[in-house]
Amino acid sequence: MIRENIARIREEISAVCGKIGRDPKEIRIIAVSKGRSIEEIEEVLACGITDIGENKVQEAKRKIKGLSAKLHMVGHLQSNKSKGAVELFDLIHSVDSFELAEAIDKQAAKLGKVQDILIEVNTSGEKSKFGIRPDDLILLIGRIRELKHIRVKGLMTMAPVADNPEEIRPYFRKLRELRDREHLAELSMGMSDDYKVAIEEGATIVRLGRAIFEK
Ligand SMILES: *Cc1c(COP(=O)(O)O)cnc(C)c1O
Repeated sequence: MIRENIARIREEISAVCGKIGRDPKEIRIIAVSKGRSIEEIEEVLACGITDIGENKVQEAKRKIKGLSAKLHMVGHLQSNKSKGAVELFDLIHSVDSFELAEAIDKQAAKLGKVQDILIEVNTSGEKSKFGIRPDDLILLIGRIRELKHIRVKGLMTMAPVADNPEEIRPYFRKLRELRDREHLAELSMGMSDDYKVAIEEGATIVRLGRAIFEK
């Protein structure tokens, strides 16, 4: 089932890219494996997926440490968990405060690493969502750019739940505008229900859970 799902997702990504004139190679698929077994993750890797995402440091340590894949932290991160996160992850998608950035920078300095991160933006303004307000982004990026062991690669957003993915297109578009203004490379947006719309709006990274692991 996983193999069929991934084949179908790749076809759909190619179709969307064909329609809008993008190269499918620009789009990285992250298999978000929270709650999934190691066997399932290995099957995903056997299909040529190279990027795995988790949303908790502890679970990731237990399951995906040492895996030959790029590892992504996609969930909310508390400053006191930043040590484990820096040790484990290639890209942290969810930085949304200067305090967290400082904690990551400090741990990365200890490891002699420059940690790649994305800044999570709350594009919809929903209270239940993590992420920085769009209006606060310039200031935050300016401050983070003074830290030596952390590198801002792009932006991430969690879109609101919607019956129709068209309803969330404006939030993806907003994130892209912010990204362009800051001259950043990566746009992590789009999940199982809305990744096609996200790609149309410029996503470079899609985070897929159910579309890969469920029927
Ligand atoms: C679980 C999760 C996903 C994947 O969600 P699906 O709807 O299953 O594709 C993506 N991003 C984050 C931050 C997640 O926690």
